[in-house]
Amino acid sequence: MAAAWNPWHGCRKASEGCRNCYVYRQDAQHALDSSEARKTAAFNLPVRRSRDGRFKIAAGERVYTCFTSDFLLEEADAWRPEAWAMMRLRHDLRFMFFTKRIERLRETLPPDWGEGYENVTVGCTVENQEMAERRLPCFLDTPIRHRVIVCAPLLGPLDLKPWLTPAIEEVSVGGESGPEARICDYDWVLAVRQQCVEAEIPFWYHQTGARLLKEGRLYRIRREYQHAQARKAGIDYKITDRE
Ligand code: SF4
Repeated sequence: MAAAWNPWHGCRKASEGCRNCYVYRQDAQHALDSSEARKTAAFNLPVRRSRDGRFKIAAGERVYTCFTSDFLLEEADAWRPEAWAMMRLRHDLRFMFFTKRIERLRETLPPDWGEGYENVTVGCTVENQEMAERRLPCFLDTPIRHRVIVCAPLLGPLDLKPWLTPAIEEVSVGGESGPEARICDYDWVLAVRQQCVEAEIPFWYHQTGARLLKEGRLYRIRREYQHAQARKAGIDYKITDRE
């Protein structure tokens, strides 16, 4: 089972992968300003209880955290200590957040983090080679118990080999969604997969994106089919537990 927890909403664009950010796209439909981060009504969701006294999010669930912002956003510095505290309290849940600001993690960690909380997975997003070279050395150098690399939206060919060590638990790849989506070349996806196979690191092709170039042909894929089409490609490697 999986739950979503968005303790704050809104973000500032950090790099090329943010250009067509879905948070901005969705907020624009309601004339909302996505660049103003704010705490949400769901801020304390992990510790909320039902009338019978049980936590609303049951033990054992995977909790996708902060998917309408960046967990390490500067504007959220004042709110994050409380978020860490809830994650610590709910050590029976498995939190996962992705960030384009991995260089901020070390300075924003809680005092008892040590080598990392056992129940927190951090995903470092890299959309192109420049961001891989900038972010991944820092990612590997920061104490984290569970690390995944998220290549999304994949915007170009990637050579991840220097960073595919046993400290990386998974690499996932996805193309870009939305009307302005940039092309994702299937050869780039296969190349990352090959690097993962050689390093024996699990690889997950989680979505195709809206514009997929495959064998010289450009496919336009509607949002509702992007995950299914990726699954159909059948190229995942050592992935066993995907909802
Ligand atoms: S970091 Fe994520 S949420 Fe923030 S602007 Fe970029 S893509 Fe959007």
